[in-house]
Amino acid sequence: MTQVQLASVATREPGAGFLDEVMGRVGASSRLDMCIQCGTCGGSCPSADDMDHTPRALFAMIRAGMRDAVLSSNTPWMCVSCYRCAVRCPQDIPITDVMYALKAMAVERGACRRATAPDFSRAFIWNIETFGRSFEVGLTARHYLRHYLTRLPAMAPMGISMLRSGRMTLLPPRRIHGIPGLRRILVAAKELEAAKAGATRRHVDADRARVTATTAAIATAAGGGHGETGL
Ligand code: SF4
Ligand code: SF4
Repeated sequence: MTQVQLASVATREPGAGFLDEVMGRVGASSRLDMCIQCGTCGGSCPSADDMDHTPRALFAMIRAGMRDAVLSSNTPWMCVSCYRCAVRCPQDIPITDVMYALKAMAVERGACRRATAPDFSRAFIWNIETFGRSFEVGLTARHYLRHYLTRLPAMAPMGISMLRSGRMTLLPPRRIHGIPGLRRILVAAKELEAAKAGATRRHVDADRARVTATTAAIATAAGGGHGETGL
């Protein structure tokens, strides 16, 4: 390995592997490496006060390779997908999509500290796979009975009001006509997601192997008495 190659690897950001992994999950248009840390996203976010880290801070942590801290942050789970950050970002970074990718990665690694949020997502997905549409009463009842039993009485007036105005119904909804087609689409989407996750894992493994090999080459060059490496 030449000195130029060694210098190139040595100047690579330490968190580049994790950054690549997140960008791989978001897709080719993630542009996360283009973040200029301007803070527009955090300043625009209606959920920022409830987040462990603002989106800007979270992206800095991703660049620093703080995998555990990022994946256990509540920030992606507090995101309400309003897209205010994404439309205002001067670098056109699809911030909301990054939040979705981080949620998926946190669930895969069991890193989410807030156990209720992934469970709510799973319940919602079950609704969609079963009926092809949301069943609010079933979803809410399941979630609150499971996680927030003591809060149910406080929710009752709003629920009754929604039932009276026809915004909700106690009966499960009718399945949509195209439910077999929808299920095929969902299966295909899961296969695509699994393939993407597999490609990302291979990329990360290759990145780690490359860093290990380079570290060994640097050690060999430094101990081989062949002069300065310039690092
Ligand atoms: S608005 Fe965009 S460029 Fe600015 S900190 Fe947020 S993600 Fe980075
Ligand atoms: S999309 Fe999420 S992160 Fe962006 S402003 Fe809205 S709540 Fe905040």
